[in-house]
Amino acid sequence: MDFEFTEAQKMLRATIREFVEKELPKDFVRKWDSDPNMTWLPEEIHRKAVALGFTAMHVPVEYGGMGGDLIDDVILSEEVSRRSAAASFGLHSGMFVRLIHTYGNEKQKNEYLPKLAKGQTGFCIGLTEPGGGTDLLGALKTTAVPDGDDFIVNGQKTYITGAHISPFTCALVITDKDAPKKSKATSLLFIDLKSPGVDIRPLHKISMHGAGSNEVYFTDVKVPKANLLGELNKGFSQLTTLLNPERILCAADTVGIAQGAYEEALEYAKTRTAFGKPIGQFQVLQHWLADMWIEIELSRLITYKAAWQFSNNEPCWMEAAAAKTFAADTAVKVTTNAMEIFAGSGLMVETDIQRYFRDARQFVFAPISNEMARNFIGELMGLPRSF
Ligand SMILES: Cc1cc2nc3c(=O)[nH]c(=O)nc-3n(C[C@H](O)[C@H](O)[C@H](O)COP(=O)(O)OP(=O)(O)OC[C@H]3O[C@@H](n4cnc5c(N)ncnc54)[C@H](O)[C@@H]3O)c2cc1C
Repeated sequence: MDFEFTEAQKMLRATIREFVEKELPKDFVRKWDSDPNMTWLPEEIHRKAVALGFTAMHVPVEYGGMGGDLIDDVILSEEVSRRSAAASFGLHSGMFVRLIHTYGNEKQKNEYLPKLAKGQTGFCIGLTEPGGGTDLLGALKTTAVPDGDDFIVNGQKTYITGAHISPFTCALVITDKDAPKKSKATSLLFIDLKSPGVDIRPLHKISMHGAGSNEVYFTDVKVPKANLLGELNKGFSQLTTLLNPERILCAADTVGIAQGAYEEALEYAKTRTAFGKPIGQFQVLQHWLADMWIEIELSRLITYKAAWQFSNNEPCWMEAAAAKTFAADTAVKVTTNAMEIFAGSGLMVETDIQRYFRDARQFVFAPISNEMARNFIGELMGLPRSF
């Protein structure tokens, strides 16, 4: 068993840490999070991240990328989220590039992958609808009806992160309303978000202010049939093959959030005094901090293990679901105890701890709720399907 990262991975982590300290200093992140007009990573910082190759890491070399694997992406997500999960590049690598690389035709790969590698295009995923995200298929209502060389799309998506800055979305739509099973009725379509009939409305949330989410309405939107990703009526099954990297990268994000909050809390416990001594001398606080360290380390281990399995083409359904679930629960627990340690000052918007606390909440149910992830684990154990 080898717990060592390669020299290249160690260098990557050091480079990301340097980038974070220089380009995402704490006072900037605080300002960014509290400015309602700043709902995405500022262009100037994005350009510096692109120059360091952060958007190219997972893109294959033949499409202008660096051909890295999921372990590289995990390091990137963890380190950036340690400062700000809103700045994390996890989804870029985890879903967008993989979707196109796995299911795109040569034309689509040549069109999108080099642009994604160079950070020249945004991208968002349009799956969830107002009827619910957990029962994604049950709630799916958006339709794409053939019309000559086009589809005509009607429906509504919600919570779509990055729709306000992306030129297009990859949306799950119903293309065969008569299919005997809904899982065989859906397709993935690239939809140009500047098309007539698309209406994007920002949502206001308490978490991840720097990564804006939106409602997206489609009214008779014309989408060329050439924009189909992969096979007609296989959209849902195509998506399911890409769930593990998404879960593992979200786990890495929450390991980063928990680590950032733990470091803040530890420092505060050493410097804040009560009864003439640092509050970190009180045993109850020491136990909280010890538990934080233990659970973050366990989250990190299962996340790395799942990433390693995925990178080595080993099945990792159980581990990816476990990593996502355990790391999200840990981030909630760590940020809650960290808030207790900060007490009154933690509630002040000037502190970083309240941001970690808010950001952690989102990962408990997105992209998959922890309850649903546990349902999958139960099923993988051979228990009867509960949903
Ligand atoms: C900030 C944010 C960003 C997002 N970004 C995107 C995005 O970019 N693209 C996108 O497509 N989606 C996105 N989502 C949607 C996200 O994937 C959904 O929120 C998630 O799938 C949960 O769906 P829901 O919120 O509708 O909850 P619901 O599905 O309504 O679930 C409500 C509750 O019921 C529980 N529940 C439901 N079914 C079961 C069951 N069988 N067993 C046990 N418990 C169950 C859930 O666990 C949950 O606790 C985002 C969401 C948020 C909040």
